[in-house]
Amino acid sequence: MADCLFCKIANGEIQVDLIGESTHAVAFKDIHPKQPMHFLVVPKRHFSDVAHLATDDPEALTDLVQLGVELSKKHSDGSFRLQFNTGAGAGQTVFHAHGHFMSRGVVGLD
Ligand code: 5GP
Ligand code: ZN
Repeated sequence: MADCLFCKIANGEIQVDLIGESTHAVAFKDIHPKQPMHFLVVPKRHFSDVAHLATDDPEALTDLVQLGVELSKKHSDGSFRLQFNTGAGAGQTVFHAHGHFMSRGVVGLD
């Protein structure tokens, strides 16, 4: 998608410090963290939300979650809350699927 922020981050057009990468997903810190650990995991391919991702590429969704689980072990005590805002009514503002991994666990990201 030409004008999608997370496509540009995933393909390197916009440079961010990635904290992790897997076959189908990349992870980076949320710019406005709501917990000491708060990072986003996004599929490299464009899907507008997790519902489309689950239907069209379940393997990529599993891969995304597995990457988030590994990073939560590294950057917190292994605990995490996983949130996929889906649709404007639920607060989705970036329409490229992404999981928020958040925790008050012991190890911060900085
Ligand atoms: P949503 O509200 O769509 O579920 O979540 C979008 C998230 O993306 C928000 O938590 C917001 O802080 C984060 N975000 C928006 N723009 C950027 C950006 O340019 N860089 C990073 N790292 N996070 C962003
Ligand atoms: Zn996209």
